[in-house]
Amino acid sequence: MRILVTGASRGIGAAICHHLAEQRPGDGGAPLRMALVASRPSAALNDTAARLDASGAETQILTGDLADPAVPDRLVSDALNVFGGLDALVLNAGIAPVDRLADLALEDWERVMNVNLRAAWLMAKAAHPTLADARGQIVTIASMSGVNPQPGLGAYSVSKAGLIMLTRLMAQEWAVDGIRVNCVSPGMVLTPMTEDNYRDEDFRQQREAFCPIPRIADPEADIAGVVAFLLSPKAGYMTGQNLLADGGLSDSILRLLPARSA
Ligand code: NAP
Repeated sequence: MRILVTGASRGIGAAICHHLAEQRPGDGGAPLRMALVASRPSAALNDTAARLDASGAETQILTGDLADPAVPDRLVSDALNVFGGLDALVLNAGIAPVDRLADLALEDWERVMNVNLRAAWLMAKAAHPTLADARGQIVTIASMSGVNPQPGLGAYSVSKAGLIMLTRLMAQEWAVDGIRVNCVSPGMVLTPMTEDNYRDEDFRQQREAFCPIPRIADPEADIAGVVAFLLSPKAGYMTGQNLLADGGLSDSILRLLPARSA
């Protein structure tokens, strides 16, 4: 199986890569070939590649700023040059800068929308012919913040809501080409994106207490397996779906409503 994963240097993207290298979804043990994409060369990206190489996968590191509209096409063609085709894309890269809409600068709105949403469309568009040849698939990584508005994260919720709708649209348009497209929306996950917040033990405990499954998720144990499931034949009749992996948080609002005992 030939898979391109964006945001592969760390956090959820690296966890997905490690999990896939262990599970080899749906290919009967054929060699796993992975294009690992990040914004720039880094020790973290090299570490992901080294761990995958050690597990027997073949890896190719590719870098570029996904905010640049020329980069997705170049990344996909570089992967095609190396692997001769692609069977799957995992579109995971994302950014979540803190800001309020009343203060948000235009360039910050555009960067979030371009990295989190436009780049996913451009990557998928560039890969459409090879995915159609392979009868392949795409998994996008959105967020519970794309399902419910999360104040204070600027354009983030808008970009992730757009990504969920992009997933559903691609699924509808490309089912005829044999391409399945699904989405995973994580809740609170401990990654380099969030680890500064969760170092504050009070903050972490407050957030955990708020969640029906009262803990912060682990990217490999709690998120990567959901992606692997969607990529596997077990999900062969699923397309256009958004799987929330959020410990029940998005559904919990009425649990918090003051209630009178019976
Ligand atoms: P992370 O630890 O910050 O990692 C982000 C990854 O995206 C890195 O590999 C980074 O590459 C890459 N990236 C960022 N900007 C890029 C750009 N302009 N061009 C190319 N690559 C870029 O984030 P994470 O927590 O693992 O999150 C992964 C995805 O899950 C994101 O889409 C995020 O919105 C979503 N998510 C996360 C959480 C959470 O609680 N952590 C919850 C819900 C959804 P470099 O190393 O080169 O910077």
